[in-house]
Amino acid sequence: MTVAPGSPSDPSRPTAAVLREVGGPLELTTVELDPPGPDQVLVRVRATGVCASDVHIVDGRLPKPLPIVPGHEAAGEVVAVGPGVDDLRPGQHVVLSILPRCGRCTVCRDGRGNHCPWAGALGATGTLDGRRTGWRLDDGTPLHHFNGISAFAEHVVVPRSGAIAIDPAVPFASAALLGCAVATGVGAVRNAANVRPGQTVAVFGCGGVGLNVVQGARMAGAERIVAVDLDAAKLALARRVGATDTLDASHLDVRAEVARLLPEGVDHAFDAIGRPRVLEDAFAVTAPGGTAVAVGLYATDATITLDAFPLIGERRLVGTYLGGGDPHRDVPALAADLLAGRLLLDELVMERPFTEVGAAVDGLRAGHVVARQVLTFAG
Ligand SMILES: [Zn+2]
Ligand SMILES: [Zn+2]
Repeated sequence: MTVAPGSPSDPSRPTAAVLREVGGPLELTTVELDPPGPDQVLVRVRATGVCASDVHIVDGRLPKPLPIVPGHEAAGEVVAVGPGVDDLRPGQHVVLSILPRCGRCTVCRDGRGNHCPWAGALGATGTLDGRRTGWRLDDGTPLHHFNGISAFAEHVVVPRSGAIAIDPAVPFASAALLGCAVATGVGAVRNAANVRPGQTVAVFGCGGVGLNVVQGARMAGAERIVAVDLDAAKLALARRVGATDTLDASHLDVRAEVARLLPEGVDHAFDAIGRPRVLEDAFAVTAPGGTAVAVGLYATDATITLDAFPLIGERRLVGTYLGGGDPHRDVPALAADLLAGRLLLDELVMERPFTEVGAAVDGLRAGHVVARQVLTFAG
């Protein structure tokens, strides 16, 4: 393999944040990383966002094989490529994608690569190819990968399809968000809901994903964008990125307030939290012909109860996964939106050193983090 000049630390001995047991601390330790195999890429991670899914792994709500390194919203530089990778080269800037794909199965060939069974096996087994992990602890214990990324680490090896080249003008901290929060939020607007100019939107939850639903709706030309949250600071941020109205759900009847603002109902309502009650609220406020979009990650045993009669109004309830698009198409387009000043990410990013990963996860779990925490790496 060819290693890019100037790589700071030994890529075969990166520091990673290892979760050994559910609820346990994220332990910063040096691990042994294999060089990239066929169709794999070695990436020096430069920025990693801390997303609710990472907290879910630590807390066991998103069960994964242990020990594991969480982290999945990341950007970095290609350090080396494995055999067969002829379209990425050392030094290129990449956004990592939680949605690798084999590109060969019938699902992939049918344009539904987000549901590629090979990628599903990667996620379930915590491996890089369905069989082997690419790194281990110092005592030889195999270390698992989170959906082929595991970006709470200085260097990672990822499947070729999990690295998307982007314009190097995009700062790493912003680029990281393109891989999850932005892809999920803006993608839900563009791919799942297909918001059109002049339409109305309600967004429940103004965390990292919800704020990007808000600005996706603004970029789509929505006329009214009602943002709902319990936190006044998050609602203020929602206004800065495009909300026309905000509702503090801590002391308001949200359904009644949305109806007061938009008596005919909203064309598109998004649950950007992932709670059954919120999704029920979203469906309840839709107008005839409207769409409720499930954007958050629900508990595996969550159920919802909906009034059935409103379905005669041809309302739709749709699910999405990471914005429902093709990351290889959408991430470069989002990078272009950013560079053109349409997508606002500076407002959403709060950089922290990688060494504070544990505190960052605790802060997100506690719910008092307003902006997206992005871990950056020394050197
Ligand atoms: Zn995420
Ligand atoms: Zn496939």
